[in-house]
Amino acid sequence: MLHASCEVGVWMDLRDFGEFGLINRIRKWMTASDPALIQGIGDDVAVIKMGSKALLATTDILIEGVHFDRSWMNPYRLGKKALAVNLSDIAAMGGIPTYFLISLGLPKNLSFSFVSRFYRGLKAEAKRYRVDLAGGDTSLSEKMIINICLLGEGRMKNLIYRRGARIGDELLVSGTLGDSALGLKILRGKRVGGKPKRLIEKHLSPCPRLQLGQALAEHQCATAMIDVSDGLLSDTHHLLEESNVGAIIWEERILLSPSYRETIHFYSRDPYQIALSGGEDYELLFTAPPGMRERISSLSRSLRIPITCIGKILPRKDRLRILQKDGKAYSPSRLGFDHFK
Ligand code: ADP
Ligand code: MG
Repeated sequence: MLHASCEVGVWMDLRDFGEFGLINRIRKWMTASDPALIQGIGDDVAVIKMGSKALLATTDILIEGVHFDRSWMNPYRLGKKALAVNLSDIAAMGGIPTYFLISLGLPKNLSFSFVSRFYRGLKAEAKRYRVDLAGGDTSLSEKMIINICLLGEGRMKNLIYRRGARIGDELLVSGTLGDSALGLKILRGKRVGGKPKRLIEKHLSPCPRLQLGQALAEHQCATAMIDVSDGLLSDTHHLLEESNVGAIIWEERILLSPSYRETIHFYSRDPYQIALSGGEDYELLFTAPPGMRERISSLSRSLRIPITCIGKILPRKDRLRILQKDGKAYSPSRLGFDHFK
């Protein structure tokens, strides 16, 4: 029998824990003590109470060879995307983004023009979403590394956490799913067919759902929310874990774009596989009581963003189940992308 303090063997590496297993360990090591830190590790952004307002903070990293490849990602789009993925986390809280800091690791032989075009993209995105660059850091690196820390604000009473889902709530998602993951497969040159242009566009230039997130917060329609960055199954799992509930997803209800439908059969026999587990959609996944249906439909119409009810929140013992077209239900064993698995 292992002693409690040696429960983790020295021979174990990060593959044994996975990305989220590691984050759970870090969460246990680093328990916070300041009561003003309303939300630390465990949500899309950290929340620090400042009177009736909240300071929001989030950070995301993009690494060459892991998140992007310079052969298919131009610097302008890269600058835009680096900020967009952080904006999406603020959207998932119903917050308003304000300032950001950027740290860059750059190879010596990178052209000056690459960096200036990167900053042009960054500036365009910053202007569009009204955020200002406040500083950063620069270092030598073998591969390009981009880390942004984005700050934001919100009203304490309107913020939407991952942890608020209640049994009986509906599970809803904006937009279409799977386009970005399919776009990435096409970019990586696995096969080409169908109508890949829109799918590639979705991968290279994701659109953070800030307006929708803020509208849901202002109208207090949603009980819990997360952005879909790791994939629908994985992010639903995060939301369920934080809320201590289970859920069922009706696979057929997931909205697929026309380009995805035309292209998916080149890549998978199961049309829903990539929509369920592919990442980087940056759509908003949220829960709401059935009584909010009308209000949410009206927001969807006025913002011209499709919102689909894809499932229902159940007691925790039901875990996460997917109901297929043929009536068969299964509990997914693999949820989606994990950096260490
Ligand atoms: P998201 O996909 O919304 O960016 P992540 O899955 O990256 O969220 O992270 C989940 C949670 O874990 C967040 O609260 C994030 O701040 C936290 N987190 C991730 N990596 C680390 C780390 N190395 N140390 C501390 N907290 C971390
Ligand atoms: Mg997120």
